[in-house]
Amino acid sequence: MFLALYYSQSLNDMGSCIYVVSFGSVESRLLIACAKNIKEIFSLEVRISSVRLPLNFDRNRYKASDFLSHLRDIHFPHMVRLLALVSFDIYEEGFNFVFGVAQEDKAVVSLFRLHHSEETVFFERVFKEVNHELGHTFGLKHCHSQKCVMRFSNSVKEVDIKSKYFCKNCLSVLTVSLEPYRRYPWNCDKKPC
Ligand SMILES: [Zn+2]
Ligand SMILES: [Zn+2]
Repeated sequence: MFLALYYSQSLNDMGSCIYVVSFGSVESRLLIACAKNIKEIFSLEVRISSVRLPLNFDRNRYKASDFLSHLRDIHFPHMVRLLALVSFDIYEEGFNFVFGVAQEDKAVVSLFRLHHSEETVFFERVFKEVNHELGHTFGLKHCHSQKCVMRFSNSVKEVDIKSKYFCKNCLSVLTVSLEPYRRYPWNCDKKPC
């Protein structure tokens, strides 16, 4: 009993991790809820951490790919993916705004246009965009299924229509991508850790 417990704890300690960091003003309740959501959906360990960047977050708008380039060389121990939640607005070439962007093993989601007077609605919107962008980092493309979280959203209304879950097809692609991390929880994408 003791041995089994000890073993499972060491695997947890060494587990492949999705890291969550935040920039601007992001409340810790949301960070914790978001970490819980990621753990539930992706079945990997999640850690909330922090990074200092030489950027002025009083600015209220950043180009998402420029912002992500600042995170390019950041690697935490056992990191599989890095998700940044930001309070400022983000945009991309050809888009006035975007809810989030994924690039290789990094993703950014902006809270700026997801706010709602009801906290549960706001949090659900954030979970959906987080799961969507993390889905991209695991190789998923946009999906036409109405309720699938991988459906592209151009407006907050469209975010509200979809669910935070993956459809059957997307889930099977995701499961294959996640399998090495779940099977060998100490596996790392980048540097040996
Ligand atoms: Zn997308
Ligand atoms: Zn789908």
